Formats: sequence, C-alpha cells, structure tokens
Amino acid sequence: MDYSIARRRMVSRHIVARGVDDEAVIRVMEQVPRHLFVEEALQSQAYTDYALPIGEKQTISQPYIVAVMTAALRLQRGDRVLEVGTGSGYQAAVLAQLAGQVYSVERIATLARRARRILDSINCSNVHIRVDDGSLGWKDQAPFDAIIVTAGAPEVPQDYLTQLDVGGRLVIPVGSGERQTLKLVECSAHGQYNETDLLACRFVPLIGARGWRGDGT
Ligand code: SAH
Repeated sequence: MDYSIARRRMVSRHIVARGVDDEAVIRVMEQVPRHLFVEEALQSQAYTDYALPIGEKQTISQPYIVAVMTAALRLQRGDRVLEVGTGSGYQAAVLAQLAGQVYSVERIATLARRARRILDSINCSNVHIRVDDGSLGWKDQAPFDAIIVTAGAPEVPQDYLTQLDVGGRLVIPVGSGERQTLKLVECSAHGQYNETDLLACRFVPLIGARGWRGDGT
C-alpha cells in the first residue's frame, strides 16, 4: 500500500494548516512512514491526526504535536538529542533525519525492542535506544543540544537542565495527571534558563524517580 499521498495530505491539513512553518520538519514528516510504527490493523489510521495505541497502555503521539515539539527544538544537522520515551520509535525517526545522533530511553523493554526493529528496517542507524528510567536523563551521553520528553512530568526534572548544553533546548509536557502544558526551556549563552508555555497537551505519564510513581501518583 502506498501511503505517500495520505501522508502529504496529513502534513498539509493538520500540520501546515495549523501553523507549523518549519520547512525542514515539514519535509521530514512528509517522508517518515508513520504507518510502519503502528500495528497492522491500525495502519489505515496512521495518517489521521490522532494518538494511537502501541501496546503496553502507551501511545504514538499525535502528528501535530510531534511537529510542534520537533520544530521547537530548532535542530541542526550535527546535534546530539536525548529523547525520553521511545514508545513506537516514530518521534525518534523524525529526529534522526534532522539531527546528528539521537539517544532515546524507554522504560518498557518490549516497546524498545519493537522500536529498534522498525528503526532498523528504515535504516535509522543514528538512533541509540536504551531501556532505563529516562526521568534521570542519560548521563553518560550528556551534554545534549536538545532534549525532548514525550511523557508528562510532574515538574521539570533538574537532571535534564544539568544535561543540557549551553544554548540547548528542552521540550517537555508538565502538569498533574492527564492534562499538561507543553513547555520549552532554553539554556541561554549565560547559562540562564528561559521557560515558555507552548500549548495544552495530553501525554501518558512519565513514570520513574523524577516522574510519577507506577500507580500514577
Ligand atoms: N515518542 C513516542 C511516544 C511515546 S509515549 C512515539 O513517537 O511513539 C511515551 C513513552 O514514554 C511510553 O512508551 C512510556 O513507556 C515511556 N516512558 C514513561 N516513563 C518513562 C521513563 N521514566 N523513562 C523512559 N520512558 C518512559
């Protein structure tokens, strides 16, 4: 099945029409095959603007949100990026086309394995996946030019700020329970942090030492 027309339509209707104007992000989202990251029964829905289940009670993020978060990172070719919450691997595939190396942490091993398999099948060799608690970041690979957190945190974990390079950008959904605010935190040349609220969003919880407990509290 050729999904390229559906994919271009998704980008123009749900991403460009809603105000994302980053040409590089638009081009990449017209290319990355989102349908490969969902199970076969859901492939025909892969180019609608919805989050979809990927097993283990987790979801692949809505394309519009992927676009907004990626654009906010203002990635450069050689950037080192940390992603927290590999999930399906789709967001990592998008990042991999725009940055240098992508370090992605996932706490659920079955999802990490599945993501690895799909990313290998489309030759995303610059994505490095590790199974661990990503609420602590990935200390050995820090500092990062950009950090993207794709699960909702109770607050901005200090570890991410520590692992962000000068000039670095962090995007993270923050808030209690099911509703969060997507925040952009930028580390200025003087090492100061500037925080901007981007939009309201709904992510699955970040579970871990700097996140929520396993029962969601
Ligand atoms: N970026 C993903 C969306 C993932 S949904 C995609 O493109 O498909 C959020 C993911 O974060 C889930 O897979 C969940 O298991 C994971 N997660 C939650 N808390 C985590 C933590 N502390 N460390 C790493 N991954 C975590």
